[in-house]
Amino acid sequence: YGDPSQKIDYIFKVVLIGDSAVGKSQILARFARNEFSLDSKATIGVEFQTRTLVIEHKSVKAQIWDTAGQERYRAVTSAYYRGAVGAMLVYDITKRQTFDHIPRWLEELRGHADKNIVIILIGNKTDLENQRAVSTDDAKEFAQKEGLFFLETSALEATNVETAFLTVLTEIYNILN
Ligand code: GDP
Ligand code: MG
Repeated sequence: YGDPSQKIDYIFKVVLIGDSAVGKSQILARFARNEFSLDSKATIGVEFQTRTLVIEHKSVKAQIWDTAGQERYRAVTSAYYRGAVGAMLVYDITKRQTFDHIPRWLEELRGHADKNIVIILIGNKTDLENQRAVSTDDAKEFAQKEGLFFLETSALEATNVETAFLTVLTEIYNILN
């Protein structure tokens, strides 16, 4: 997970947003430390975590910001979005309401963030397929209509988490180059 002495070519700030308990902190824990916890407490004190990876032979430090229990409507401050070049918009595939709130999060994001921000819609908890409440097709159609990337993930099983981050980071890199 990265040699701390290596030189950094880029730092990309990416923000995680979405309703409480959809798995944002566990997606980040999986990506940054390859960890997962079933009884995760709300993130305390830590504003972001980083991981350095190589994209097209350049070293890119991903600085991923996690909301610390600010998921109530309009509670996320503009400082959170400032400088962000990527965003991961997360819902829980077993909780319909968390998907129904996505347009609201998208509106808030578009109101605060840079207009060229790269956004990926993420349906998390695919390991709970038997409790699915949001179809893949519905989400795919919404993402297409809004011009978002889309993937379903499981932070628990480590499915597609790496791919989701790589999708966003590679797209950001390609926009800059
Ligand atoms: P946040 O409020 O969006 O940061 O959500 P958390 O990351 O704290 O996760 C909320 C709860 O969902 C915790 O109990 C996690 O262990 C659980 N969780 C997160 N991701 C997954 C997943 O992919 N599958 C399952 N089954 N549970 C998950
Ligand atoms: Mg959290």
